[in-house]
Amino acid sequence: MEKYIALALHYMKRIHPVLFWYMLAVHILGILGLWRIPQCSNETLFFALILGQTCGLGITVGAHRLWAHRSFEASFPVRFVLMLLNCVANQGSILHWVRDHRVHHKHTETTADPHNAQNGFFFSHVGWLLIKKHKDVKIAGSEIDCSDVLEDWNVWIQDKCHPFLELYMCFIMPAQVASHFWGEEFWNGFFVIGATRYLIGLHATWCVNSVAHLFGDHPYDAQSYPAENPFVAFITLGEGWHNWHHKYPFDYATSEFGFSAQFNPSKVVIDLLAMFGQVWNRKRATAAWAMGRIKREKNRELGIPDPKPLLRPWEIERNAKIQ
Ligand code: ZN
Ligand code: ZN
Repeated sequence: MEKYIALALHYMKRIHPVLFWYMLAVHILGILGLWRIPQCSNETLFFALILGQTCGLGITVGAHRLWAHRSFEASFPVRFVLMLLNCVANQGSILHWVRDHRVHHKHTETTADPHNAQNGFFFSHVGWLLIKKHKDVKIAGSEIDCSDVLEDWNVWIQDKCHPFLELYMCFIMPAQVASHFWGEEFWNGFFVIGATRYLIGLHATWCVNSVAHLFGDHPYDAQSYPAENPFVAFITLGEGWHNWHHKYPFDYATSEFGFSAQFNPSKVVIDLLAMFGQVWNRKRATAAWAMGRIKREKNRELGIPDPKPLLRPWEIERNAKIQ
């Protein structure tokens, strides 16, 4: 018990006041929105559902696979729409998202990882957003080159309008659309299509950093903690195939197989856009994995066991208690 009180005091000293109160407000608004759902028209609920899914593409296809990893190239109209959808998803500017994500890949599960899962579920899920960054994260962030992302006008203009464009697109725009086109009460739109939809989207995204780093299989890289997690893939438009993704971050599909074997709507969208010539130069890692698999199978034939990742702090503690 004393250990947990000391840990709570340690984190309280590091609280980021603006983000802490913002996240608290977002949760209160999102939960209040639940009580307004019965008052909403069917059109409003349908719009909330569709917007919740499509704005997720602004993160998965846009900020993640296009801008952070450069795993494919896209036309200006596609990039423009992805930027607007990214604003609706409202997870900080694309520039900041890309910087944190590149740092996460470069320093996975070390003190320089912004949402280091070695610190446990709560920290990697949301705790990292509530406190000031660790000094190692700051140093790592300053060393990451994101100049390529700023060359895109869409990223640049969003950064210039941050955070007002995102706040408008996330909370106000959906309410205006609903009240203008089908006469929904403005505050129903604000709370349900804005706040509640936003809160659900945030937690779904955060599960990639928490759930997919803590639970699942490691078929592609046994020494890497990020895992294959079908549940996370289901709630994040296909971002849960995280062992593959950390092994091959340049792969636009972020998974080994196609949609029929692994749930991945983001890959389907990219493939559809490619069919219409709006996306090109899609990179894949299946050839690299085929070589890795041959090497692993040879090792197994020679009786060399698969390597295993080091134990996490709480596993060491648990094992010590058992002994
Ligand atoms: Zn990760
Ligand atoms: Zn990534």
